[in-house]
Amino acid sequence: MGENYVVDELISAKAVAARVEALAKEISAYFRDTDKLVVIGLLRGSFIFIADLVRELDLPVEVDFLEASSYGDAMESSREVRILKDLRGEIAGRDVLVVEDIVDTGYTLKHVLEILATRHPRRMEVCALLNKPSRRETDVAAKWVGFDIPDEFVVGYGIDYAQRNRNLPHIGAVRFVE
Ligand code: 5GP
Ligand code: MG
Repeated sequence: MGENYVVDELISAKAVAARVEALAKEISAYFRDTDKLVVIGLLRGSFIFIADLVRELDLPVEVDFLEASSYGDAMESSREVRILKDLRGEIAGRDVLVVEDIVDTGYTLKHVLEILATRHPRRMEVCALLNKPSRRETDVAAKWVGFDIPDEFVVGYGIDYAQRNRNLPHIGAVRFVE
């Protein structure tokens, strides 16, 4: 595979910001009775999304992070998940929002939710920025999704290709060129 690629804009920074604001309104309403929501970002792809999302939430929040292995630098899911960096806090009896960048086959999210469920949160819901419905191989679903996207390899707004392009303000699709 060639190393040269360009990034075509798929979702503008402005559209992302508007969607994040709308998601935050729905999530704030849903968890309005929670005294302190634990918002868990799945590293590293969700770091910009979670930063923007929590600032729009009208709720007391605690922020924690979890890093699960999946892709490495490859473009395909390994369909097998390990915890590389665990949460710092406890979630037993707590209301939890898991924030993911992309749900693709669904294996990463499914395994992460299975692991977290063994810790007995009171309620656990998922907000994913991007969703690729055509790629799903599991029955996992996010309660809130920013955008359904086609089967493209995307970067930007926290999401990388081989550790590059995370700092793009918009979301773009990778296109390989000669
Ligand atoms: P899944 O286990 O659902 O197949 O894959 C989920 C993970 O794969 C996401 O958390 C994300 O990190 C990564 N992933 C899926 N699609 C893409 C993509 O288009 N671009 C990038 N950079 N990562 C992706
Ligand atoms: Mg990920």
